[in-house]
Amino acid sequence: MTGPRVAVVGAGIGGSTVALALARRGVDVTVFERRPDVPRVGSGLGLARNGRLVLEGLGLGPALDRTGAPITSMRLLDAAGSERAHYDVGALLGLRRADLLRIVLDALPAGALHHGRECAGVDVGDGPPLVRFTDGTTATADVVVAADGLHSRAAAAVTARPDLQPSGTSALRGFVDGHGLPDAVRHGQNAWLGADRHLLSYPVDRTGTLNVAAFVPRPPGDAGDWSSRVDPDDVRAAFAGWDPDVTALLARADEVYRWDLADREPFAPWSRAGVVLLGDAAHPMLPHMGQGANQAIEDAAVLAALLADAPDRSDRADLGARLAAYERERAPRTARVQDGSRRNGRAFSGGSSSPGGADLSWVHGYDAPAAGLAAARRS
Ligand SMILES: Cc1cc2nc3c(=O)[nH]c(=O)nc-3n(C[C@H](O)[C@H](O)[C@H](O)COP(=O)(O)OP(=O)(O)OC[C@H]3O[C@@H](n4cnc5c(N)ncnc54)[C@H](O)[C@@H]3O)c2cc1C
Repeated sequence: MTGPRVAVVGAGIGGSTVALALARRGVDVTVFERRPDVPRVGSGLGLARNGRLVLEGLGLGPALDRTGAPITSMRLLDAAGSERAHYDVGALLGLRRADLLRIVLDALPAGALHHGRECAGVDVGDGPPLVRFTDGTTATADVVVAADGLHSRAAAAVTARPDLQPSGTSALRGFVDGHGLPDAVRHGQNAWLGADRHLLSYPVDRTGTLNVAAFVPRPPGDAGDWSSRVDPDDVRAAFAGWDPDVTALLARADEVYRWDLADREPFAPWSRAGVVLLGDAAHPMLPHMGQGANQAIEDAAVLAALLADAPDRSDRADLGARLAAYERERAPRTARVQDGSRRNGRAFSGGSSSPGGADLSWVHGYDAPAAGLAAARRS
C-alpha cells in the first residue's frame, strides 16, 4: 500500500470515484455509506466529456458504453415546439444515476465498501481524524473525505458552511419509455422553454428509456430527498397545451419524483486537520449545466493524484498542504460552474434560448487527471 490511509464518507458519485481512483493507485481506502444498498430511485444524468475522461482513465469506458446512451446534440425549443437553437454537446453520455454508481462501485476492491454505516460526525485534533457512526462505532484514517453530499455531516469538522440557498424551483423527474416518439426526442437532448418553467428530456440507456425533468416554480410543501413522489397529473397540468411531444412524453410518466433545488455560495476552507470536502459537500450546484456529478468526478481525480503521491503518511503538515493544493486547483473552477448553472437556470426559466454562453469548451475541455498530476508535481 502507498500514501495515507483514507476513509471516504458517502458512496455517491464523488465518494465512489475518489475511492476507486485511490485504490487504483494502491492507496488503502475504505468507504462508509449510510444506505443499505445502491439506491434504485434517483434520476438520469449526463456524463460529459470532462467526467468521462476520468472514468475512462479508471478503465470504466467499456462498461459506460454498454450501459449509457450517446447524445450528440441539444435542441432548445419554445413551448410550442419551434426550434430556437441547436448545440453540439460533444461526447455526452446519458445514464441513470444508479447505473453509473453501480459501475463505479463494482470496480472497487472487495471489502472496501461498507453499506449501512451512517456518519454522525468527525472529530479532529492534532492526530488523525476519527469518524463517529450513529451505531456507536468509530473509524480512523490519515485523511477523511467528506463526500456525503448536500447535507454533509462530516463537513462540520471543517467549517460552518453558508446556508443553502433555495432557488425557488423544483425539479419533477421520472423515466419514460421513448419508443414511438420522434427520433429527435428519442436520441437527443431537448429543452422546451416557457415563461417560468422548462422541461428537459434525454435518453439514459440503450433500450429507449428517457429521463424527463420538469423545472417548475416550487410548489407548496417540502421535498427533502429524491424519494418524494408527486402526482404525475400535476406535471401534465403544469405543461398543458405545450408542444405535442411534451404532452406525449408526460402522458407516459407514471412515477414522478420531486427535488427542491438549492445551492450554496462558494466558501473556504475545504479542509481542516485531515478532513476534506468533495462534490456537493463542497460546491453544490443547480443542475442547469448538467455538471454536479461531473464536477464531483473531477474533484475525485485531482484529490486522488495529490494523496497517492504523498511520501509519508505520518507527515500531517504535508498531508494538509496537499489538501490545500486540491482546494486551490478546484475551488475557482467549481465556483465558476456554480455561477454558470445559476445563470443558465434564470435564462432557461425566463424562456431565453441563449443561456450563459453556448461555448462550453472550458467546461468539457478540462483534464482533471492531468490537473491532479500537475498539482502533485508542484506539491
Ligand atoms: C434535479 C437534478 C438533476 C441533476 N442532473 C445532473 C446531470 O445531468 N449531470 C450532473 O453531472 N449532475 C447532475 N446533478 C447533480 C448530481 O446529482 C450531484 O451533484 C452529484 O450526485 C454529487 O455527487 P456527490 O458524490 O457529491 O453527492 P451524492 O451523489 O449526493 O452522494 C452523497 C452520498 O453520501 C451518502 N450520505 C449522506 N449522508 C451520509 C452520512 N451521514 N453517512 C454516510 N453516508 C452519507 C448518501 O447516501 C449518498 O450516497 C443533478 C442534480 C439534481 C438535483
